This record gives sequence, C-alpha cells and structure tokens, in this order.
Amino acid sequence: MPGNTCVRCGTVMSPHDVVSVASGDGAFRSLCSRCFNTEMAHLAELHAFEHPEFTPVRLADADGVVHEFYFRSLLFGDQLSLEAFELAPGEEDCVGFRFQLLGEPQSDPFELLGNLVQKVKRALTVRHLVEHAGNLEVAGTTVRGRIEWDSGQDSGESGRLPRVVIDGRRVDWTDFGAMLMAFEGWQFRIELVDPSDEA
Ligand SMILES: [Zn+2]
Repeated sequence: MPGNTCVRCGTVMSPHDVVSVASGDGAFRSLCSRCFNTEMAHLAELHAFEHPEFTPVRLADADGVVHEFYFRSLLFGDQLSLEAFELAPGEEDCVGFRFQLLGEPQSDPFELLGNLVQKVKRALTVRHLVEHAGNLEVAGTTVRGRIEWDSGQDSGESGRLPRVVIDGRRVDWTDFGAMLMAFEGWQFRIELVDPSDEA
C-alpha cells in the first residue's frame, strides 16, 4: 500500500497529491505531484518544464453556494493535465465537483488555469437536479455527471454498481434509478464523455 510520504523528497503529502507510480518490478512508489512531474519532465526531455502550483479558488454555483477548488497538475509526457476538484474536510476522497483540462506541456500553465476556471464556471451555472418536497428530482431532460466507484456498497458488491456525482453531489445508483422513474415510458440516450472534455 503506497504511503503518504513522497519517496523522493520526503514531503508528507495530502492524499490528493499522492501519485502512485509503478516500478519495473511491479511495486508502487508514492510521489508528490512535483516530484512526479520532475521525473516525467526528465524522461520526456522537457528541460524547461516548471511545476505549476496554484492556490485554491472559491467559486459560487447557481444557488450562491461557494465551492472551494484545489488544483493538481500532472505531466504525462506529451500532455499537461490540470485538474480542479473539491475536498471535503476529513475525507480522503475528492468529493463533489471535479474537472480536468489537457494542454501542451509547453503551454502557459496560467492560461490553462484560466481556461479550466472558465470551464468550472460554465458547469456551476447549470443545475441538473432540484429538490422537491425533500426529494431530489431531475430538473430538465438532460443530466450531466460523473461515474464514481461506490465503496459504500455491501462487501463483495463494491465496485459492481457505480455511484454518480451530479451537481457536485453524490447520488447512489438506486436513488438515481428512482429519480428516473419520473420519466417512465420515456426514451433515453447515454453518451460517455472523457473527463477532460466538456460534458
Ligand atoms: Zn516529492
């Protein structure tokens, strides 16, 4: 089990900053994102690469609720990935909204950040679920969200069914199914979209 201390620089990392890297012998090493990027830049011979670090940004959604987004940038050889995600206090997992953009390794990280923040803002203006008499309902006829591993399922069943995150909130698969019953007899279309694309 990879630990929370970076094997390269010794930094004790917050869980979302841990990158598990497979070694040749099949073992995993834990690296912080900075050390991961340094190694990747070396391997990809990107000598001018500088690891960008961004402070969290607070953005309000359509209901005026403020969400705090943390950022992580990872260099994947020919692409620079920038992620924005929410963290809940005391939780190891990233919960809530999560967004990703891919850019060229040589691209200006601040330009990438600007584009990602615009993407986050666009997503935050849309509400797909509404609360009605204490129950969540589908607001319109389109639902956008993210498919997640559901560790809350009974042992043995874990991972068999997804949990979805809609409007930044977790919805169990059965609850999502119950919401869809408002549309009994309707047709549906499911389109799966890469995390870095716009849903
Ligand atoms: Zn490190």
